[in-house]
Amino acid sequence: MTGLAELPLRPELVGEQPYGAPQLDVAVRLNVNENPYGPSEAVIAQIAAAVTEVARDLNRYPERDAVALRGDLAAYLGHGLTADHVWAANGSNEVMLHVLQAFAGPGRTVLSFAPTYSMYPEYARDTHSGFVTFPREHDFTIDVDAALAAIEQTRPDVVLVTSPNNPTGTALPLEVVVALVDASPGVVVVDEAYHEFARTGTPSALELLPGRSRLAVSRTMSKAFAFAGGRLGYLAADPAFVDALRVVRLPYHLSAVTQAVARVALANATEMLAAVDRLRVARDEVAAWLAGRGLEVADSDANFVLFGRFADRHAVWQGLLDRGVLIREVGPAGWLRVSAGTPEEMTAFTQALDEVLADDD
Ligand code: PMP
Repeated sequence: MTGLAELPLRPELVGEQPYGAPQLDVAVRLNVNENPYGPSEAVIAQIAAAVTEVARDLNRYPERDAVALRGDLAAYLGHGLTADHVWAANGSNEVMLHVLQAFAGPGRTVLSFAPTYSMYPEYARDTHSGFVTFPREHDFTIDVDAALAAIEQTRPDVVLVTSPNNPTGTALPLEVVVALVDASPGVVVVDEAYHEFARTGTPSALELLPGRSRLAVSRTMSKAFAFAGGRLGYLAADPAFVDALRVVRLPYHLSAVTQAVARVALANATEMLAAVDRLRVARDEVAAWLAGRGLEVADSDANFVLFGRFADRHAVWQGLLDRGVLIREVGPAGWLRVSAGTPEEMTAFTQALDEVLADDD
C-alpha cells in the first residue's frame, strides 16, 4: 500500500488531516450545532415526491445556475432581494470557497478575528491565499479600533467575520460591519450561519447591503433550518458580486436532487424553523446551568454555548463521551462547546457533566 508521504503532495498539505469533528455513534450528539429536530412525516413525503419527480430526468444535467432555488432563497431572506442577489452552493463552506477563489488567491490576504470558525484557515490554504487573524477582546467581541488597525496593517483582500461567531456565540453589532466595509480595500463577508438563533430583534447585515457592493452576507440551511444533510449554503450580495462567484463555480455544482429538496424545505420554512425558539430556550437554560455550576460561559446568540475553563479540557470531553454525550473540543485552550439539543439531551449532558466534575473534585 502506498503511504501518503510517498506521494508528491503540495508541501503545505504534508501532515494535514481532513477537517471534521469526530462522527461517533453516540446517543447524545451535541457537537456540530445541528438542529436535533428532523422533518415531519408530511415534509418527508413532499421530499420523497420531489425526488421521484427529479429522478425522471436524472439523465440530464441540473439547472446550472439554480435560478429557481436562488429565487426561493431570496424570497426567504426578504430585504427586497432577488435571485440575482443570491448565490447557493453545497453548504456555506462551498460558498466561502467560491468567495476566496474569486477574491483571494496567491499573493492575497484573508483577515479574520480569532477565536473563530476553524474552517477559515482551510479555505485560505485550499485557495493558496494568505490568512491572518487578530485577537478578539476577552469577552470575544471585536474592538472597532483594533479591527481598523488590523485592516490598515494587513490591507486584506477578504475580511471574514462571523455573527453570531462560532465557537463563542458572540453577535457583531452592525456599526462594526459598517466600519470594516468602509475601511477595507477588499470584500467583507459576514458569516451569519447562526443568525436565526440570535435574540429577537438582532439585526442582520442584510440590512447593510444596499449601496455596499463589496459586502456579502452568508447563510446556511444546516443549522436553524434543520437541513444539514441536504447541504445547502447561500450568500446575498450585489449581483456583480454574485457574478464573480458564478465565474469560479464548477458547472452543475448543485445537483438536481439538492435543488429540488432544498426548494421543498424552503416551501415549508415555518415548519423547518419551528424548533428555533425551543433551541434558544435550551441554549439559555444550559448557559444558566453552567454559570450556576461556577463555570465561565460566553454570552451566546447561537445554538451552542462555549464554557470553561478546564485545566484538562480533553479529560472533561472524554469523561462526557464515556457517559454517551459527545460535545466539541474547540476554541481557546480550556474551553468546550456544547450545542443546544432536545430537553432529554440537555438533561443527559448536565447529568454527565455533574458526574465528570464530581470525579474531579
Ligand atoms: N460558518 C460557520 C460559522 C459554521 O459554524 C459552519 C458550520 N459549522 C459553516 C459556516 C458551514 O456550514 P455548512 O457548510 O453546513 O453550510
